[in-house]
Amino acid sequence: MDYKIAIAKGDGIGPEIVESAMEVLDVIGKIKGHKFIYKEAPVGGFAYDLYGDPLPLESIKTCKESDSVLFGAVGGPKWDNLPGDKRAETAILGLRKNLETFANLRPGYLFKSLKDASPLKESIIGDGFDILVVRELTGGIYFGEKGYKETENGKAAFDIEIYSEMEIERIARIGFEMAMKRDKKLTSVDKSNVLESSRLWRKVVEEVSKDYKEVSLNHMYIDNAAMQVIRDPKQFDVILTSNIFGDILSDEISMITGSIGMLASASIGKDKKGIFEPIHGSAPDITGKGIANPIATILSAAMMLKYSFGLEEESKMIEDGVAKTLEEGYRTSDIRGDGDWIKTGEMTEKIIKTIQKMV
Ligand code: ATP
Ligand code: MG
Repeated sequence: MDYKIAIAKGDGIGPEIVESAMEVLDVIGKIKGHKFIYKEAPVGGFAYDLYGDPLPLESIKTCKESDSVLFGAVGGPKWDNLPGDKRAETAILGLRKNLETFANLRPGYLFKSLKDASPLKESIIGDGFDILVVRELTGGIYFGEKGYKETENGKAAFDIEIYSEMEIERIARIGFEMAMKRDKKLTSVDKSNVLESSRLWRKVVEEVSKDYKEVSLNHMYIDNAAMQVIRDPKQFDVILTSNIFGDILSDEISMITGSIGMLASASIGKDKKGIFEPIHGSAPDITGKGIANPIATILSAAMMLKYSFGLEEESKMIEDGVAKTLEEGYRTSDIRGDGDWIKTGEMTEKIIKTIQKMV
């Protein structure tokens, strides 16, 4: 089958790592008889330099007309002093808004061979852990009414946490769908002992769970969850949570998996079209040196195959290829521990060779 993919490389190491992911996709396409048709969508500082706009309408159109979007990273010192609406970073926020991607999926996965890179003890991580955080991305306190008011104690500021039943229901469904594809275990994280919005969250999640009887559901307060992911990360499969709690919790989880250069993410909406990108930024300090770790972006492409196109087997081939390459001891310089340090291109080549050998 043919799949149209918008390619938003962006700035810094963005082009280097996205090209690596495209090479891997092409190899998968060749093996399995799929055709990935790419169309560039300039974003970030790169687009600003060309068109005076970090997210040109033409790029939005390209993304909307594609089946999915592969995104590198945006921003860098060259564009740091631009006015708010021209900042390179507005490209990713604007794209999420335009594509209405209300669900952010962030796997917290520790590769067996990278156990030494985790700050957690071996007695806790055992043979590794595999968590998927499903974070609500377009609602909650980040988007509720905010402002200032005068009080008898002087000026006060407020941000309102607001969630509608519809917003909770649609993210909960994504959480349960993900759990169905995994270990059928879902932990919904809230603060319903204090927050009204969390009480509604819990109620709606309970209702949605009636449609997913096979999934075992438990609820956890955010403060406890923050502790539990360190104490015993293996107890989790899918974590479903709000925008702000997910923001904090997913960064905490990413830290216990080792290097920032390994972690993929997806932002998806109701039609499965998504924005797939590494969680790291444009890394201006190593741009052009050819040493960036391409794995986060390669794994993001694997997520695209699974979540946007339903190509589970193809996605698994990429994940296995990465895992095996790491097992063989190959490392880029961002990964702590022993092993040969290799460059972006060599790592990509090793992963491709490993995938080809597996079939
Ligand atoms: P942003 O605000 O866009 O998230 P940031 O300032 O938080 O960016 P990153 O660009 O993510 O930071 O970089 C943080 C550090 O991690 C830098 O030292 C960078 O070189 C390193 N880094 C990030 N991604 C990679 C990668 N793929 N490979 C190797 N090192 C990386
Ligand atoms: Mg950052």
